[in-house]
Amino acid sequence: AAKEGGKAAWVRFEPRMRQEVVNHARLGSELHNAIIRNELFLMYQPVFDIVTGRLHGAEALVRWKHPVRGFVSPGDFIPVAERSGLIVPLGAWVMREALRQLSVWKAEHGAGAIKAINVNVAVRQLREPGFVDEVASVLAEFGLLPSNLVVEITESSVADGRQVRETLQALHEMGVRLALDDFGTGQSSLSLLRAFPVDVLKLDKSFVDGIADGEDRGRLAVAAAVAQLAEYLGLSAVAEGIESEAQLDRLRDMGYRLGQGFFMAKPLPADEAGMLMAADPVVAKY
Ligand code: C2E
Ligand code: MG
Ligand code: MG
Ligand code: MG
Repeated sequence: AAKEGGKAAWVRFEPRMRQEVVNHARLGSELHNAIIRNELFLMYQPVFDIVTGRLHGAEALVRWKHPVRGFVSPGDFIPVAERSGLIVPLGAWVMREALRQLSVWKAEHGAGAIKAINVNVAVRQLREPGFVDEVASVLAEFGLLPSNLVVEITESSVADGRQVRETLQALHEMGVRLALDDFGTGQSSLSLLRAFPVDVLKLDKSFVDGIADGEDRGRLAVAAAVAQLAEYLGLSAVAEGIESEAQLDRLRDMGYRLGQGFFMAKPLPADEAGMLMAADPVVAKY
């Protein structure tokens, strides 16, 4: 916004902003210790086939239990980790832990286990030269295949530059699938979808919110268009943030096959997510 209009736009430095900078600095140094102190853990939000009601997969979501602050939301500490570069070791921990957990589920539940785990990866991680080798070695360590992993990236990652593009290409060639997260909110051009080896589009929750509550025509149109786009391009589409049956029904009618949201299941601890897999064939209760 500060660049708009062509003229220099001055932003007043409010005391509140100073407070925020200070908090971020402190949060950053605390986050530094969070990994070694075992304060991070993962929750797993199930992804369902919304046509059959069966469990399809799960997204690993990082949590931080701070000894004093209590639970800190990833919406608060991920941006701090991204700015400081701490996202690189933090993200490496998340990747390893998520794949370790998938290997445990496979051992415990066999064919009932989900086939792949979704892991969010920040652009900072993709810029690290060793990223692809590291993923390959963690997969090998846990006896997993590249097809057991879905890497979730944002649209801005795809537009980042040559090195990141090459990393994404290498992951894809290895057999790791790529999902474009929060799809529809970024500013990437649709032609990126043809230029990049994307496999999954995750419709952002904001468009799902527009469905059935208020029937916002603009957001409804985006939701429907993304389903069509995915179909034409041969990609799979996942609707995120489904909170009601009305939204679920409407998205299914639009052509969504996969869905994720509090209406079906919130992010769960690993053992509870495992219980869904033990109940194979899983038919969701929603
Ligand atoms: P995301 O990747 O788009 O993940 C989906 C977020 O939406 C999660 O929030 C999830 O709990 C929430 N959600 C899912 N269904 C519903 C719903 O029906 N209603 C509502 N209100 N929310 C729903 P969470 O876990 O707080 O994560 C927020 C964001 O933080 C994630 O958005 C992702 O961008 C980032 N994040 C989380 N874990 C990681 C990680 O390990 N690495 C990186 N780089 N980013 C992460
Ligand atoms: Mg995600
Ligand atoms: Mg998302
Ligand atoms: Mg999101």
